[in-house]
Amino acid sequence: VDSKLPGVGTTIFSTMTALAQECGAINLSQGFPDFDPPAALVAALGEAASAGHNQYPPLAGLPQLRAQLAAQLARYRGVTVDPEAELTVVPGATEGLYCAITAVVRPGDEVIVLDPAYDSYEPAVTLAGGRTVHVPLTPENFAIDWDRVRAAITPRTRLFMLNSPHNPCGSTVNGEDLATLAELAERHDFLVCSDEVYEHLVFDGAAHQSVLQHPALRARSFAHYSFGKTFSVTGWKTGYCVAPPALTKELRKVHQFVAFVAVTPVQHALAAFLEAHPDYPGTLAAAYQARRDRFLGALAGSRFRFRPAAGAYFQLLDYGAVSDEPDTVLCERWTREHGVASVPVSVFQAEPPPGQTLLRFCFAKSDEVLEEAAKRLCAI
Ligand code: PMP
Ligand code: GLN
Repeated sequence: VDSKLPGVGTTIFSTMTALAQECGAINLSQGFPDFDPPAALVAALGEAASAGHNQYPPLAGLPQLRAQLAAQLARYRGVTVDPEAELTVVPGATEGLYCAITAVVRPGDEVIVLDPAYDSYEPAVTLAGGRTVHVPLTPENFAIDWDRVRAAITPRTRLFMLNSPHNPCGSTVNGEDLATLAELAERHDFLVCSDEVYEHLVFDGAAHQSVLQHPALRARSFAHYSFGKTFSVTGWKTGYCVAPPALTKELRKVHQFVAFVAVTPVQHALAAFLEAHPDYPGTLAAAYQARRDRFLGALAGSRFRFRPAAGAYFQLLDYGAVSDEPDTVLCERWTREHGVASVPVSVFQAEPPPGQTLLRFCFAKSDEVLEEAAKRLCAI
């Protein structure tokens, strides 16, 4: 077959999870919690299915769930969103991102992607006939190098992919970043696709910065969220996308022919849970920060260097003091030999910097698992 995606293989997440299972290794590779979602949420799913909520829901999502989500956005971000015209429930942020990208990117358009970048953006751009323009984040702290972004903008720039809190780096953007992006987006008339699936996982007292809170960005952005992250239900594949009415209309045109709708009983369960526990998402940052600190505390005696993740549930460890082998090689070998699976950072970069020695570890895991993984890593 003359592949439309010749460079694409099986994702690193599936590959490493399979290897971890094969080796019986602790799996800190693919990002998913090893603990249960809230019991009330699981119960609500069963109740929804038993109550007969098993057929197609409305295209944009259940009205009561969209109302709860608008209330959440008001509560946590202080923004007013029209759930009818601006909010769409999707079967996972992956689908929402795909629909947003393919709805606006035309053949020949350029899309700015900040490397390292989550793996699903580029294939969507390619399938839409667009071209990704890769701009590296700063190697020291994975911040946005705005001079390099400015240099990458051309009259063909159509879309800018933003991701904060960042996967795989765990970095976050600040208000100044958003102000700079707003100014550039307006001046050069491009749109923004903001992946905020880890919005509730921002640590050390900092606040999540959303494009929705910045009026100029709000007017030209898709903002993507995932219940998988917020409610520890990655297998439920449900999320939502917020965008101004004109962009939402285009997103829904694509969405109705990619997936049509998101899963009905899951939407009922989430609506019921959010109505009863609107403050649950606000409890996540402290819980995940404790997990991060447990993992890093247990790694204090190791030879790895690290800067604590500012957000998301991934911690980068620099193994430069231990080995100079490529991350892809080491990642596999340590899964086999030391029983801890991680993800190499270079797979998220178009041009990995020579000599980069970084692995990503997911700390959405129970205390015993984090302790045991750190013990094994300390022995390396
Ligand atoms: N964006 C980022 C940065 C992610 O890490 C993930 C998933 N882990 C997604 C999007 C996709 O989310 P979902 O599982 O809801 O499709
Ligand atoms: N987003 C998750 C991660 O970064 C994995 C999602 C997937 O496997 N596609 O590990």
